Amino acid sequence: MQMPFPMLGQWVAGDGEPLPSINPATGETHALVGTPDVAQVDAAIRFADRARRDSGWSQLKPHQRAMRLQAVAAAIEQRLDHFATQQMLDNGKPWKECKAQAASAVATFRYYAAVCETLGAQVNPARGDYLSLTLREPYGVVAAITPWNSPLTMEAQKVAPALAAGNAVVLKPSEVTPLSALALAQACEAAGLPPGLLTVLPGLGRTVGHELVKHPLVRMVSFTGGTGTGRALAGVAAGRLVPIALELGGKSPQIVFNDADLDAAEKGVLDGIFEGMGQSCVAGSRLFVQRGVYDAFLQRLVTRVGQFRVGPPDVPTTDLGPLASHAHRDHVERFVQAALQEGGTIAAGGRRPDDAALEAGAYYLPTIITGLTNQSRTCREEIFGPVLCVIPFDDEAEVIAQANDSDYGLASGIWTRDFARAWRLANALQAGTVWINTYKQLSIAAPFGGYKDSGLGREKGLGGLELYQQSKSIYLATPHAL
Ligand code: NDP
Repeated sequence: MQMPFPMLGQWVAGDGEPLPSINPATGETHALVGTPDVAQVDAAIRFADRARRDSGWSQLKPHQRAMRLQAVAAAIEQRLDHFATQQMLDNGKPWKECKAQAASAVATFRYYAAVCETLGAQVNPARGDYLSLTLREPYGVVAAITPWNSPLTMEAQKVAPALAAGNAVVLKPSEVTPLSALALAQACEAAGLPPGLLTVLPGLGRTVGHELVKHPLVRMVSFTGGTGTGRALAGVAAGRLVPIALELGGKSPQIVFNDADLDAAEKGVLDGIFEGMGQSCVAGSRLFVQRGVYDAFLQRLVTRVGQFRVGPPDVPTTDLGPLASHAHRDHVERFVQAALQEGGTIAAGGRRPDDAALEAGAYYLPTIITGLTNQSRTCREEIFGPVLCVIPFDDEAEVIAQANDSDYGLASGIWTRDFARAWRLANALQAGTVWINTYKQLSIAAPFGGYKDSGLGREKGLGGLELYQQSKSIYLATPHAL
């Protein structure tokens, strides 16, 4: 049975080629999801544009919009297990991680409901006989395009602020993970969000995604995904002169100094790369360890990695599930082969697990590679998998230069007990997020985004709502000026 998707205020089968949704833990197709054809993409965008005008969504008082977003949060909360299951079936993340991400989607809707309540206008300083104020208005229809690694959090991170800002949203989830977005559409419907304010169009990027980005009624694009795709979409958006927010890839450095708390660093470094099987934009995939603790720290990592339980995502004791798809597992495998060819040595993993029970799934062992320099391809390109490269360093200036010597600039981690040094590094590192003696600590209240090839614009935080608005300045002559 083909799963329908929501457009034109109803759930339809769609005239496009259905998408198989494959469980990476078993290789089985667990759903066939309907997709729109080109004409239906056009009709859905037109409907979304009408819906936002006819519903008066952007003219609602902020607390009225906020109430709707609170209702969406409650509807997700009531379906937490369903949301977590949909993501687990689609991308194979362990159940507890999926559950935590579903809970974070609830928190995101609550946060943007609260931000929506505080929306105001700004009165500008007087510079003559007039009063000037700046209002913020929605763009209209926003296209949101998401990847497959964490659809639960990423889709909430785009849809909640874009709706709070008064827009209608047309969301295209990754072809690998369409189910979470469909669950979000169901929750929005149950929460009484006016039909057409959230449309979900499953399908391929090169068809459905492409049509969305070039459609004249789409006035803003919010994209999370690979740097190559982001760059191509930025070209289309530039041609149309519409704004685009880009959350892209990373090759984030973690830096461990001789004086670090090695227990804390061990956990932070391992979770930083292997949680989510390295399929995280902020994965700390380049590890620089100061020479004095290099051997001992590497040994700790290798020992602990050997203890990770790789297995089915629905088994509570599983630490690491499969990769999100078999194609992606093959991609990671090719990267590891290339690392060997350029002189790397496998310190841990570097192959599929031996367990015959896991053979049909997209499993791969967490892998540690040594013997490469920061100039190697393995250390320069995003693998987006469970592969950690470990490189020794001698002093602070050298490690700053190496950490910054990357096309990317999404995140970085510093492990030291020397506060002054941590502060110097935090200022010197070229990254949108710097963690000191912690890693992957994330808050919806803190702006998130990348330097350099890691993106453009910032999601989350108060500015995460303004991202989906344009400003309008109004000048009013005072009686004295007339
Ligand atoms: P992709 O760039 O391949 O795809 C992302 C989305 O874009 C998918 O929905 C995809 O559709 C769509 N798409 C692809 N081509 C086009 C096109 N021509 N027009 C419109 N849409 C298109 O990324 P992945 O899904 O492989 O995700 C992994 C990447 O995402 C990694 O590089 C990772 O670092 C990055 N990422 C960044 C994050 C951040 O916050 N900075 C967070 C999470 C991931 P389809 O499904 O058909 O491919």
